[in-house]
Amino acid sequence: MERVPALFVGHGSPMNALQPSRHTMAWADAARSMPVPRAILAISAHWYVGATAVTSMASPRTIHDFSGFPPELFAVQYPAPGSAWLASRTAEVLAPLGVVHDDSAWGLDHGTWSVLVHMYPAADVPVVQLSIDARLGFDEHVRIGASLDALRDEGVLILGSGNLVHNLGRIDWSNDEGGHAWAVEFDAWTREVLVDDPSRLASARERRDFTLAHPTPDHFVPALYVAGVARESGSAARIVSGGCALGSISMTSFVVA
Ligand code: ZN
Repeated sequence: MERVPALFVGHGSPMNALQPSRHTMAWADAARSMPVPRAILAISAHWYVGATAVTSMASPRTIHDFSGFPPELFAVQYPAPGSAWLASRTAEVLAPLGVVHDDSAWGLDHGTWSVLVHMYPAADVPVVQLSIDARLGFDEHVRIGASLDALRDEGVLILGSGNLVHNLGRIDWSNDEGGHAWAVEFDAWTREVLVDDPSRLASARERRDFTLAHPTPDHFVPALYVAGVARESGSAARIVSGGCALGSISMTSFVVA
């Protein structure tokens, strides 16, 4: 089994599922440049709960967890199979953390499918989602990510999906391809850290502008999982797409080989 890189994607607006851009093309390029994974373990900002859980159903449903978007977006289905094998292996590598097996509540949310429709449009690679336990600290998320590194040798793609800057209250819909000065500055800091030592992302909360970049940390945390993979494997990150959109969103994505 060939070792698979890990990837963090800045997913941005759910409309990115339907609207190709330089970012969605970079996600597709990243998929084409790596071995086809045996399965995908997706850590999405949108499954942010009070536990570490894995989806363990055979056919995870496509969740349209947003409102105010056109019917075409609600019509999107991403019928990738689940993977009982990966759900169990994830619980094993994270032991003694008690991973909850969810066989009915969740499925694939848009943090996962809006990205995978570009990376694996045939939906033929099994997908398991791993939830984020909102009670844990940043260092603990990095540690969980480090434990997941072992799965890469078994052909698993670790996919974090969030945004390195994410402030919905400061969105500027007229600014498709740019960011407010503070957003550009925070995004630039993350990129510096990523190419130096990704695990330093865990220090982001010490920055005075952290709560401006992230009024809630849910979209930042998935990057900490991929940073943990980088720490464990002694790798830096490579930025595959960068920059801000809509004023207050970072679209920066990175790969860890
Ligand atoms: Zn999101």
